[in-house]
Amino acid sequence: MVQRIFIGGAAHEAKWLLDTRAGQDLLSRHYGQEALPQCLCSDRGIEMSIRRTNNFFFLARLAGTGNLHEHDCPSYGQENYFSGLSCYPSGVVQETPEGRTLLQIPPSFATLGAMNAMSLRGLLHLLIAEAAINQWLPDEERTWARISHRLRSAAMFIDTPDGQPLSERLCVPDAYTRDAPSQNHETLKALLCHNLPGPLLIAPIKGCESGPKATRLMLKHLPGIRFWLPAAHAAQLTPPATPLFGLAILELQSGSQSANLNVRHMAVLWTDRCYTPCPDEAIARVAEQLRKTQQAFLTPLRFDANESHLLADFALLRDHGAEPAFVVGSDYPDSRAKKALATVLRRYFPVSIFDVDATALST
Ligand SMILES: [Zn+2]
Repeated sequence: MVQRIFIGGAAHEAKWLLDTRAGQDLLSRHYGQEALPQCLCSDRGIEMSIRRTNNFFFLARLAGTGNLHEHDCPSYGQENYFSGLSCYPSGVVQETPEGRTLLQIPPSFATLGAMNAMSLRGLLHLLIAEAAINQWLPDEERTWARISHRLRSAAMFIDTPDGQPLSERLCVPDAYTRDAPSQNHETLKALLCHNLPGPLLIAPIKGCESGPKATRLMLKHLPGIRFWLPAAHAAQLTPPATPLFGLAILELQSGSQSANLNVRHMAVLWTDRCYTPCPDEAIARVAEQLRKTQQAFLTPLRFDANESHLLADFALLRDHGAEPAFVVGSDYPDSRAKKALATVLRRYFPVSIFDVDATALST
């Protein structure tokens, strides 16, 4: 499409603004002015800023507005504040026309080097997102029986580089029952017997005990099995606040099979008791409040995106679409950047702010 820009009371082609003397003069006259030019790809007009390098003036989209532009607009960008999934170089995550997800993951995450593949943490986030566990809908059952079923189903639609579905390599234990106490042990044993590279296990964390050389991890629904972690991974098991809950994904030593299993690599996602991802206690409090008011929501996941990639803390799921919500406070990380982004986005749609300093969380 031809990008057209509204500036100084008239519409001009973006190319004319950049490539002609008259266009550059027009941009220079509006440089630093309060009224911003607007991209006309959308009826509502998307504000852009004028930037300069040396004597050349150009247009840049405002932070966080990339996905307000139409998909065929040159200023469209997938800087999604609802997910960090777009951080990967092309080829790492591919959607096939059949609805399958093709992933570049290494045979062992313990040897993962440069970022041309997904990390184990990225894979954990992908499973949570594909199983829609980071989404909460009113009246939804959030038991491990339901959650584990959704994780297993999601894994069936994700393919690894060897062409196998991830479900072949991943054990998600069932909810423990006294009627079949060793059922999960048998499933895990079968996976480890296969001798596939990098067998994976995902389960809720029950507890851990640190020793001088290694840390012993206990997982729910797998009583009696001790998972031994290299000391380097133990720090990950300190929750940001209590009482948070957590899901761990483990890469186990292939071929081993006993009540003592060695962990090669681990990633942890902190949640609340409903398995909603919650990096800290403030997010958990807001999630609880949203559930009380029956407000459907989604918690964005970072995947392997850099910490500087600003994400919303929640997406409030309304009838007309998802609205971003940010948690801020005097000591709360990134509050200034979040407020600045919220100010920009509010020109186009409603944005909620939850202030952790307020006695009752307000929007
Ligand atoms: Zn545009």
